[in-house]
Amino acid sequence: MSHSPRHVEPGSLNTGLFINGKYVPAVSGKTVPVYDPATETVIAEVASGDLEDARAAIDAADAAAAGWAATPPRQRAEILRRAYEIMTERLDFFAELITLENGKALPDAKGEAAYAAEFFRWYAEEAVRIDGHLGLSPSGGNRILVQYQPIGISLLVTPWNFPAAMGTRKIGPALAAGNTCILKPATETPLTALALAGVLQEAGVPDGVVNVLVAARSGPVVSAMLHDKRVRKLSFTGSTEVGRILLKEAADQVINCSMELGGNAPFLVFADADLDAAVEGAMVAKMRNGGEACTAANRFYVERSIAETFAGKLATRMAAMKTGAGLGDGVQLGPLVNAKSRDKVHELVQDAIDKGASVLAGGAVPQGTGFFYPATVLVDVSRDARVNAEEIFGPVAPVIAFDTEEEAIRLANDTEYGLSAYVYTGDLARGLRVSEKLDSGMIGLNRGLVSDPAAPFGGVKQSGLGREGGHHGLMEFLEAKYIATNW
Ligand code: NAD
Repeated sequence: MSHSPRHVEPGSLNTGLFINGKYVPAVSGKTVPVYDPATETVIAEVASGDLEDARAAIDAADAAAAGWAATPPRQRAEILRRAYEIMTERLDFFAELITLENGKALPDAKGEAAYAAEFFRWYAEEAVRIDGHLGLSPSGGNRILVQYQPIGISLLVTPWNFPAAMGTRKIGPALAAGNTCILKPATETPLTALALAGVLQEAGVPDGVVNVLVAARSGPVVSAMLHDKRVRKLSFTGSTEVGRILLKEAADQVINCSMELGGNAPFLVFADADLDAAVEGAMVAKMRNGGEACTAANRFYVERSIAETFAGKLATRMAAMKTGAGLGDGVQLGPLVNAKSRDKVHELVQDAIDKGASVLAGGAVPQGTGFFYPATVLVDVSRDARVNAEEIFGPVAPVIAFDTEEEAIRLANDTEYGLSAYVYTGDLARGLRVSEKLDSGMIGLNRGLVSDPAAPFGGVKQSGLGREGGHHGLMEFLEAKYIATNW
């Protein structure tokens, strides 16, 4: 059984900042280590940019802006299509790289790499569908002509949990709409973002159109960029906590913001549901990415008559998952990204246990190297346990019984978040009725997976502003210009 990568040669990875079409060291010469969460060893030292590097990245994006905006949409589309093809040819490379720096099991990483490439394909198709509008004013006095133009230099800030897909989900529409950009990836997972820049360059993206700035001092560096008058767009994916800070920062220059923030997804199972399908869906909604997904089912509310059976079946499936280094043969559950994440997950489990929960599977931090946490199922979780209110971001499923449809909806909506929710029922009318009443941007109705490059992804309440994916995602990078016209 080998845990070594077969497609990635760590020594040959690009580790410089990507500015104006070149991988360069940081002006300060500083670097930041990137760790393999399975072994806690350093994979690479990556250049860590600061204020001067941020300015250089904006200079490059600014110099390239007019040329890229004037590039015919068909040409922009063909470049994005080539990026999709190149990435698809290198799925194994990207999957291994994602596993190396994020830790997720290789099948999850393969899924992410394919999903990530799809954003280039989808936005290649969208680049030529930027339609305007012509109408007659109600008075009949003039025409209303509306044209969509690139919004301007876009700052893209991404998290570590989907190092490839969160990048392509922003770069794809930014470029399709005719903008230049600066991607600031999470410090934990910069190697995938830097490799993406290489794919885009090979596909024909001109110098300066895409820049990647890794920055260990993310707060001051992002703040400086949000105070540079040339930056006009912030597209952020990450925690609600950091999202709030950045919305305040962006207010100073009234920068347009798209915010994809945290989630606390409820997973409702009614007694009329196909129980095995619900358990199958729960495994996907909970365990995709080892639970480190903003869409991850966080709270399982199950109708009382089937709650025990559901929890038992889920615990059997969860306990049978093969845990280990993400590159290991047959491994389904890799380590969490770092010690802080693992400690937070365990703290939430311990809190639930202290408040009366029983453990059906997992629940203890294993000995040894690597940031591992076992697949865990908790029952008899009290309403005041922290897992009800906080994003777990790990392989932990708290199961809570409910008695009526109204109660299930009330419990599901009792959170500051509103990203995704899941509903399992054999009664489609009930499924649609409940879906309409859930305060969330996305619903999986008898499905454990909602993500789709062609669909509008995003949350309500404190889960965010705006949508990514689909045609909506393109519109976030365009500005409407209205021309009152007489002819
Ligand atoms: P995070 O908020 O800690 O970091 C996200 C990004 O912001 C990283 O690039 C980080 O370096 C940067 N950052 C951190 N502090 C900053 C600051 N003060 N100023 C500027 N930038 C700063 O999130 P994370 O831990 O990387 O990712 C996990 C979170 O992301 C979870 O809450 C998850 O729900 C959320 N997420 C949301 C979506 C979505 O689409 N809604 C998708 C994936 C992840």
